[in-house]
This record gives sequence, structure tokens and C-alpha cells, in this order.
Amino acid sequence: MVYTANEKRYDSMTYNRSGRSGLLLPALSLGLWHNFGGVDKYENGRAMVRHAFDLGITHFDLANNYGPPAGSAEENFGRILSQDMAPYRDEMIISTKAGYYMWQGPYGEWGSRKYLVSSLDQSLKRMGLDYVDIFYHHRPDPNTPLEETMGALDAIVRSGKALYVGISNYSAEQTAEASAILKRLGTPCLIHQPSYSMLNRWIEDGLQDVLDQEGIGSIVFSPLAGGVLTDRYLGGVPADSRAGGASVFLQSNDLTEAKMAKVRKLNEYAQERGQTLAQMALAWVVRGGRVTSALIGASRVSQIDDNVAALNNLAFTEEELRRIENVLAL
Ligand code: NDP
Repeated sequence: MVYTANEKRYDSMTYNRSGRSGLLLPALSLGLWHNFGGVDKYENGRAMVRHAFDLGITHFDLANNYGPPAGSAEENFGRILSQDMAPYRDEMIISTKAGYYMWQGPYGEWGSRKYLVSSLDQSLKRMGLDYVDIFYHHRPDPNTPLEETMGALDAIVRSGKALYVGISNYSAEQTAEASAILKRLGTPCLIHQPSYSMLNRWIEDGLQDVLDQEGIGSIVFSPLAGGVLTDRYLGGVPADSRAGGASVFLQSNDLTEAKMAKVRKLNEYAQERGQTLAQMALAWVVRGGRVTSALIGASRVSQIDDNVAALNNLAFTEEELRRIENVLAL
């Protein structure tokens, strides 16, 4: 059936400005790292992209290596674009990245100009696009001069293959240095993509200050800690969950008793707020307005509904924040 987007898709989503740029991003964005690969059910991924867009989620985040197999999430997304989303391309912000291992030989990972330009060309082919909206360097490369990597990002924007550039997983110091180079080149860094959740707060220790100073936005990945900060594991490890499946990024032995004790307590607080734990975890990462967008993953349409409903209650009282801090400090 031909897809027609929900006419009311812009009625309730919140859009935040990315740093000091002209670009607005939805408060929640959808990532295609898990559940959109060649091993996954295509129709489920397709339904999630359509549903997200119907709810005002305009931003979809990919990378060269998402799958498995690597590259297949971009291929599937390309198919969804051509089947359903092509009429809406100008209403979408599509990002991809290069940095991790993608192909054999010396040019298939890290941060050389050779790798970044070749990888983006491959990504564009897989998605059937002329350009992406945001192109990221996915992780810092200790062996390539930052001038070369940032120079490649600048050249990519000038070639028209990306509209904006970002960096991911860079420390506060690396970010300050990268930002200075990009400013000098005339292609300011739009956004940083770090991990951040109630269980992983490294960005509070310096990175957020650099981002504020430099006018760079932030889109935080794994705000639900891959599903730990939800009701998913409260009663054990379901077979159809990330920790119950083949993902090496979350395994059942990561769900320690100490962590689950915190999760159970946080779940009680969420219930008192009239929210699910996922909703409270998302509200918490965007509290205080320092985060441009929370970048969620999902394995089913109902999770996207649940997560978007977090936006109905983003406010915390001082007392709620204090109680959460006490649990996290345990
Ligand atoms: P999350 O922390 O949002 O975890 C998503 C998982 O949580 C889902 O797959 C699902 O698990 C579970 N979940 C989501 N919503 C709910 C809900 N409402 N109730 C119960 N369970 C829920 O993020 P991800 O770790 O998936 O990362 C998100 C995105 O961030 C990626 O797709 C990618 O785009 C980006 N990313 C970037 C990285 C980088 O280096 N730049 C690294 C990692 C991610 P289940 O599958 O078990 O149902």
C-alpha cells in the first residue's frame, strides 16, 4: 500500500536547535544500529521508520557498519526511502558515519581522508541518496592528524555530499581541537554524538561545557542503556530482547544484581511520576536543555510510541532529581 504520512505529524513533537546552527532536530531521533539489518525482519524496520515519521521524528541515524551484515541497515533504509519516504526527503534529516572497521585493507577504517570519502560514497550508493544531511567521524583516530580528518569533513561538505558534519565518541579535549580546526576551515561542527544515560554520565565531566562554549549540539546515543533502563529486564531476560539475542553489546551477564537493584528502584520512581521507566530515562537525559536530541533504538513500533510519550512530562522536581541521584550513587 502506498504510504501517506500522518497529516498531524508536526503537531506535538518538540524540535530543538542543534547548538548555534540553523538546524532543528526532534527531541527524539531514531537510530538504525540494531533491528534494521539483513538478519532482521524488513517489514518491521519499515513499519518503525514510517511510524516514527508519523510522530514527527524527522531524524534517522545510520552508519556504514550498521547491520548485521555491515552495510545492510543502509541498504534496507534505502529500500524504505524508495518505497515510502522519497516524497518526504526534504522533511528528513539522514545521518551516516565512518570510523569503525568496514572493509579489509589499510583504507577501510579510522580517519584518513581516503577512508572517509570512499565510505561516504559507498553509503550514498547503498541508500540511493545524492547527499546525507549529517556526516560523522564515528570515533577518534589516534594515528591520523586531526587536520586531515577534519579537512576531509570540510571537503565532503564542499563537494555537496553532506550538508553538515559531526563527530562521535570524541573526548572534551579532542572536541575542542576538532571544533577549532573546523571553524578555521569554515565548516563548523554541527553536532557531537556521545553515549549518555542515567547509567553512563561521562559527558557531564567536561564535554558538555566544551559543546556549550563551541555552540555544538549533542545527540546522545543509548539513552536507555540499550534497554536496561526500561521494563524489559525487570522479570528476567526475554528471548526476543537485545540481551537475550546475539548482540555482543548487551549480554545477560551485564545485568548485574547491583545494576538491576537500581533499575527496580528507578522503575518505582517512574511509576510515581505516571511514566514508564523508559519515559523517565529519556526525560532525564534531556533535562535542563543541554541535549539537543535523545537517540533511541527500538525493536517494535510500540516502543516508539512509549518513548515519544515521554515528551508529555519532561519536568522534574528538585526532590525527584535528588532521589534519582541517590539511587544512581548506590
Ligand atoms: P537505546 O538505549 O535507546 O536502546 C534501544 C533498545 O532499548 C531497543 O532496541 C529495545 O531493546 C529497548 N527499548 C527501547 N524502547 C523501549 C521501551 N519503550 N520499552 C522497553 N524497551 C525499549 O539505544 P541504542 O543502544 O539502540 O542506540 C540508539 C542509537 O544510537 C543507535 O541505533 C545508533 O543510531 C546510535 N548509536 C551510536 C553509537 C556511536 O558510536 N555513535 C553507538 C551506539 C548507538 P530490545 O531490542 O531488547 O527490544
